[in-house]
Amino acid sequence: AAKGSGRDRIHLFTPGLREAARWRLEVANRLRDGSLDQFVVHYQPVVRLDTGELYGVEALLRWNHPERGLLSPDAFLSVAEETGQLIPITRWLLGETTRQAAEWAAQGLPLLMSVNISARHFSAETLVRDVRMALHDSGLAPESLLLELTETSVAEDPTRAEDQLAVLRSFGVRVAIDDFGTGWSSLAQLLALPIGTLKIDRSLLTAAASLTTEASGAVLASIVALTRTLGIRSVAEGVETAEHLQLVREAGCDLAQGYLVARPMPAVEVPRWASRVRAA
Ligand code: C2E
Ligand code: CA
Ligand code: CA
Ligand code: CA
Repeated sequence: AAKGSGRDRIHLFTPGLREAARWRLEVANRLRDGSLDQFVVHYQPVVRLDTGELYGVEALLRWNHPERGLLSPDAFLSVAEETGQLIPITRWLLGETTRQAAEWAAQGLPLLMSVNISARHFSAETLVRDVRMALHDSGLAPESLLLELTETSVAEDPTRAEDQLAVLRSFGVRVAIDDFGTGWSSLAQLLALPIGTLKIDRSLLTAAASLTTEASGAVLASIVALTRTLGIRSVAEGVETAEHLQLVREAGCDLAQGYLVARPMPAVEVPRWASRVRAA
């Protein structure tokens, strides 16, 4: 189980260069030998900007390292991706998160469950099977599952991406483009893909907040306006301050996620958080 409370206090392990090589090797070995029960999922609320209601949660992976404690994805994700171990981890995560979402729904808390899918998994044959299996085993309604794909994983091979997206969409799963604004892909091209949600990266919000008055919200607003026209839902990521909140409201974003709303938290705390929000 996760250490500490719901504050998502995780160890920021930033090794030096020589340490880094040793760390990568250790991660690779441990991930290979270790069982999946060292992984923990935290959930970060996503709320509607018009009503403040809880709309969904994003599943975020943590590794409960036997000696180092709870580690953030930065410490192990790239190694896991390179060694191919992220696919079995994500298969487990899909099972865990869909089971959790089905359980919450049965308790009267239906939430959209977002799961991050790596570029490598997205381009693998097994993704469709993994998603279908998780839905089958959990009994979760497919439209309650949102797969988050990064800009780069769809931009790499747009034709293949389109086919893969079409298959996923054919059985009702939703798809989002994650971290929009961090790559160099064209928004028009991305939005031509069959996706329902665009997650606007924190860096765009920070940039908007640092510019002066009129210019500040313009970029954000034009992105959101375009998604609106196309019937695509927009999520502002990294809403940390009241100023950020005002910016994304003015821009017309549909949903928000960030420390101002809530930090990622263990599963047990989600229903409690939800009932507090409902009461407020
Ligand atoms: P992401 O998908 O963009 O997820 C949001 C990240 O931003 C999370 O970091 C979250 O804790 C953090 N965050 C949320 N609100 C705020 C805020 O207001 N301010 C700031 N500064 N940060 C905020 P986390 O959990 O460390 O995850 C980092 C990245 O690792 C994720 O970024 C995602 O790309 C990746 N990741 C996490 N879990 C998984 C997973 O299960 N599979 C894959 N493939 N990637 C994952
Ligand atoms: Ca994400
Ligand atoms: Ca993101
Ligand atoms: Ca990000």
